[in-house]
Amino acid sequence: MMTDRVFNFSAGPAVLPVSVLEQAQRDLLGLPGVGISVLEMSHRSAPFEAIIESAEANLRRLLNIPSNYRVLFLQGGSRLQFSMIPMNLAADGQRTPNYILTGSWGKNALQEAVKQGDVHVAWDGKSHNYNCLPDAEDIDYSDNAAYVHFTSNETIQGVQFNSEPETNGIPLVCDASSDFLCRPLPVERYGMIYACAQKNAGPAGVTVVIIREDLLARGPDNLPGYLNYRSHNDNQSMWNTPPTFAIYILDLVTRWLLDDIGGLDHMLEINRRKSQMLYQVIDDCEGFYDGHADRESRSLMNVTFRLPSDELQKAFLEQAAERKLCELKGHRSVGGIRASIYNAMPVEGVESLAEHMRQFSTANR
Ligand code: PMP
Repeated sequence: MMTDRVFNFSAGPAVLPVSVLEQAQRDLLGLPGVGISVLEMSHRSAPFEAIIESAEANLRRLLNIPSNYRVLFLQGGSRLQFSMIPMNLAADGQRTPNYILTGSWGKNALQEAVKQGDVHVAWDGKSHNYNCLPDAEDIDYSDNAAYVHFTSNETIQGVQFNSEPETNGIPLVCDASSDFLCRPLPVERYGMIYACAQKNAGPAGVTVVIIREDLLARGPDNLPGYLNYRSHNDNQSMWNTPPTFAIYILDLVTRWLLDDIGGLDHMLEINRRKSQMLYQVIDDCEGFYDGHADRESRSLMNVTFRLPSDELQKAFLEQAAERKLCELKGHRSVGGIRASIYNAMPVEGVESLAEHMRQFSTANR
């Protein structure tokens, strides 16, 4: 293994399992038995068909996806989903999209939906500075809702739902971009789940959409082909050339989750352990570290906190880098520190960060 790898706390594109990178490296001049790499082969070739089928099968196994849900591999990132969702699921103009806003990405999703027609904000965490989740009784759905959109993990604020909001039968649509595959999910409770891969599932370039079959019928025929989920569904995600290399890496990552980690129950256990290490330091050093998220809303994936001053924050980041702890600066919109500890972040990386946090607090209190 390369010795000069650092611990990469980037929010995405983010750390990948070393074994996946090594496999990709080995396969780059030629897939075993094929003689060319995935980068060079037709998406309609038998070896690539095997890869995309395997990626889907792995996702189905990991998440126990019921047979009436379709799995699509799309491009355009999660941002394109912000538009495709209202275009497909609320096109009849009779029903109103509902949005639960727990942070920046939910607001971005809303901004795109507004361009397609009327929307309803069912809950907005703005008055709490997006540091918490709604109480069930405070969510206010409109009559005749087309769907309810929420962001299971707000990557910037570090706020994560730990169960699904109750929607009383309204299709639930989830942006799971930054916590996809971090834990098991009751897929049957959702109308649709989508996630760009570049945080927990692979590289940038592919976005996974898991959609309940009956919702496909809602897309109007006059949508541009790419923007209609049916085009992709009817063509096994090959209506146009899919992002073949990204899907190949996603196949390797999902295989790693199944074979090396042992499934999403185990992954969740590890993720709980890793995030708890950092939240424990924040709690133990109260008054020095200021965690952004409410305790009940803390993310397993993005741990966000501030230091007492900009000078201390700068020194914290510099000293972290000396320990090979990198990409810890928070998003420019909220500042502070953000440690993204996705599935592939090794436990040792988190241990090392926790130790740095304790020592830095002791030295600078
Ligand atoms: N939703 C969430 C929760 C995200 O974290 C991101 C990316 N940071 C996006 C959507 C946008 O994804 P993309 O850049 O792939 O469009």
